[in-house]
Amino acid sequence: MASCRPGFTNIMHLPDKPREECGVFGIYAPGHDVARLTYYGLYALQHRGQESAGIAVADGAKIQIYKGMGLVPEVFSGDRLNHLKGHLAIGHVRYSTTGASQPVNAQPLLFRYSGGMLGLAHNGNLTNVTELRSQLMATGSVFQSSTDSEVIVNIIARFAQKDLVDAIVKCMIDVKGAYSLVIITENKLIAVRDPNGFRPLCLGTLDNGYVAASESAALDTVGAKFLRDVQPGEIVVIGDNGLESIQVLKPRRRAHCIFEYIYFARPDSVIDGFNVNQVRREMGRVLAAEYPVEADIVIPVPDSGTAAARGFAEASGITFEEGLMKNRYIGRTFIQPTQDMRDLGVRLKLNPVREVLAGKRVVMVDDSIVRGTTSNKLVSMLRACGVREVHMCLSSPPIAHSCYYGIDTSNEEELIAARMPLDEIRRLINADGLYYLSLEGLLNIFGSARDNFCTACFDGRYPVEVVKTKEAGKYSLE
Ligand code: SF4
Repeated sequence: MASCRPGFTNIMHLPDKPREECGVFGIYAPGHDVARLTYYGLYALQHRGQESAGIAVADGAKIQIYKGMGLVPEVFSGDRLNHLKGHLAIGHVRYSTTGASQPVNAQPLLFRYSGGMLGLAHNGNLTNVTELRSQLMATGSVFQSSTDSEVIVNIIARFAQKDLVDAIVKCMIDVKGAYSLVIITENKLIAVRDPNGFRPLCLGTLDNGYVAASESAALDTVGAKFLRDVQPGEIVVIGDNGLESIQVLKPRRRAHCIFEYIYFARPDSVIDGFNVNQVRREMGRVLAAEYPVEADIVIPVPDSGTAAARGFAEASGITFEEGLMKNRYIGRTFIQPTQDMRDLGVRLKLNPVREVLAGKRVVMVDDSIVRGTTSNKLVSMLRACGVREVHMCLSSPPIAHSCYYGIDTSNEEELIAARMPLDEIRRLINADGLYYLSLEGLLNIFGSARDNFCTACFDGRYPVEVVKTKEAGKYSLE
């Protein structure tokens, strides 16, 4: 098959997607090379953050740490890993949702407190960080970084003179918002999940050890067996005496981020009881039932639209085709386009296949539209290949509200669904039809668990109170 415009190259400048947050990984496994296993675990979680990576390893007496800017294989060499010796470790990959993208904000954060050393890796955003940081600074705390994670460390360090777990409990009472944490001391691994369970965190077993990770795919990668999800409001302490669970706070209304299933998480992960790939496929089936479009082929916007497109094709009986080819080798270091090359941006990442598309009525399935900057370029590319009709189908409801819990969804003024009615969006992207999965249809996929999800970016119903700012998402809430 030939591509539509062979030899034509350029780049994707600004992805028109919410941005992933962070990924955390922890391991307690005497007798194993925990630094290397953490490296592989972070590799499996790389999609959750590409700005920085770090690993902290403890050997019972001290904690060593190494972290830097870049992808996991850019930050760590084999030699570097050889120097990280111990029997327990934590790791982190980061995309900055709060705090600037600077080395000082890379995690894990490592601190010395009156009881010893402590390292922490955090996925999520706190919603009362401004207030807490002011209180802490007024009573003498100093901060090295601009991350909300350092507020957590400060509270824990302040109350940890007697008992570390008591200090974590105190911290969980004070902080509000989204946090899945892995914490390391000289001889203990601790996993913590906020009382709403916004961000995922699961546990696995390894012979003679335990693993905690943002996604079960990371457990699979290091050969660990899935044990269970960390419960909302739970602290799990792993050490010489095995695994101890403390249900600290009564779980509040569960509010798992539904966007993990729509876009963020790996399709092979199982999160809070649901396999991501199966959920995405079902989203496509429901979408096809809600919008019976007449068309010749269904194509995905790869990769996040692929499972939903397959589900759409199965339910509608319309043939599934791969009409867009994705270049998988575009990295962060790619030279960004100049202003006059902007319109070429999408094509390097996604190139249409004329032989599949020409003369067809096409259903194009994507997961979401954020700003709408990519969709009209995709539609134009299809039309340039001779497509007769383009029906854009989204496997999520319209994103009309910002996220304050650790996802960069852009501020509300930039969200196209907050700015204009659907028919105007359809005209803007030049599609013959524009269809979003209904919120009701999305929630029904989860059956009796349908009330366990955060859907605030669709319906504005925030499970934990937020102070709305213009700069939600990537930027600090201050
Ligand atoms: Fe996830 Fe949206 Fe809730 Fe943020 S607002 S946690 S992106 S469902």
